[in-house]
Amino acid sequence: MNCELNRVLMIGAGGVATVAAFKIAQNADVFTDFMIASRRKEKCDAIVRAIGKPGIKTAQVDADDVEQLKALFNDYKPTLVINLALPYQDLTIMDACLACGVNYLDTANYEPRDEAHFEYSWQWAYADRFKQAGLTAILGCGFDPGVSGIFTAYAAKHYFDEIHYLDIVDCNAGNHHKAFATNFNPEINIREITQKGLYYKDGKWIETDPLAVHQPIDYPNIGPRESYLMHHEELESLVKNYPTIKQARFWMTFGQQYLTYLDVIQNLGMSRIDEIEYEAPLVDTPNKTARVKIVPLQFLKAVLPNPQDLGENYDGETSIGCHIRGVKDGKECSYYVYNNCKHQEAYRETGMQGVSYTTGVPAMIGAMMFLKGIWRKPGVWNVEDFDPDPFMEQLNKQGLPWHEVFGQEAEMAPNIPEKG
Ligand code: NDP
Repeated sequence: MNCELNRVLMIGAGGVATVAAFKIAQNADVFTDFMIASRRKEKCDAIVRAIGKPGIKTAQVDADDVEQLKALFNDYKPTLVINLALPYQDLTIMDACLACGVNYLDTANYEPRDEAHFEYSWQWAYADRFKQAGLTAILGCGFDPGVSGIFTAYAAKHYFDEIHYLDIVDCNAGNHHKAFATNFNPEINIREITQKGLYYKDGKWIETDPLAVHQPIDYPNIGPRESYLMHHEELESLVKNYPTIKQARFWMTFGQQYLTYLDVIQNLGMSRIDEIEYEAPLVDTPNKTARVKIVPLQFLKAVLPNPQDLGENYDGETSIGCHIRGVKDGKECSYYVYNNCKHQEAYRETGMQGVSYTTGVPAMIGAMMFLKGIWRKPGVWNVEDFDPDPFMEQLNKQGLPWHEVFGQEAEMAPNIPEKG
């Protein structure tokens, strides 16, 4: 395919995609030709209106359908696709990229719809085909995964000979003033949180019951917040790429109210991902009914607040970072690198809340790294496979400044419980 060097197609028109589109429009010197395509074209058009740059193109596409994707790619001829749809679409979009000679970037690893399970193996299996085609695929370029891996790569490059302990800590200390809402796609979010916990220790993966291991962790400018050990996809690539790691864990904060609602949702069966039969009136002839199949969690998504609408009343901030311990020049050392992001500042700039912002900005920077030729090598890669320095420089310029703490103060306190 004859591609223009900086022609970018973004798929998806949700909260994360809206932020990425705003940031792409702000960097029009790099992103000279840009199209947004999603399941509903009107959502893409609404993003273009919000940005106020009518030159951005839009299109309708069902990203579950490889043939539709191929037709769009052959028509628009992008050099890079930024996949900000859902993890279900990763493989179909990668298939279409291979068929049409297009490079690929996403923020979340593939998940089959019928199993709440995520791992990189499905996408890593594409490595040889991308390599042979001379195409680059960049996986997991949001905040976590994404910046969490880049923070680790930066630490490994500048401050450590060997990394031994890694704790990724993710706090949302914001308040959206709703009884219950999720900060990104509710279906994906609830599937993730209700999974078993998993962490890496001494060469083995150790499973815990969902949200069973927790402790207060101190977050800068926020203070101590109860944080729960969870499985998170970047651990899988980081322990592979940094084999000196003895222990790697991921922690996320949840408020008590959120957990109580989650418990009720689960006990009611509303987090189920299998189909149930339900008799419903027809839209056009309501006096007639039909038996339909619905997935309870997808129905729940339809009645929960849309994460895209949370921004206006969201106050407080997020804080995400990496606590790292290891050795440099034979001496033990500790390092903590983090970003805090205020929901209201994200909203003022893009109309979206901080969680969409902290994901959409790194997706744009990853695309920028590719377009500038800095992050470009045939194959399928995680973000820590590339040079972190130019990305870290852009984080400071593009609205996600980071801060470093060294020595004893960088260590997590108190000590973390070993097991649930
Ligand atoms: P949303 O649900 O708001 O947006 C997803 C978008 O994809 C919607 O516009 C949706 O269309 C569209 N879409 C869904 N299915 C299809 C399809 N078959 N074909 C075309 N378009 C489709 O989600 P978010 O913006 O909150 O999240 C986007 C992605 O970012 C997710 O994969 C999520 O897991 C990931 N993420 C990553 C994080 C990280 O730090 N790495 C953090 C947060 C999220 P419609 O609008 O019609 O529903």
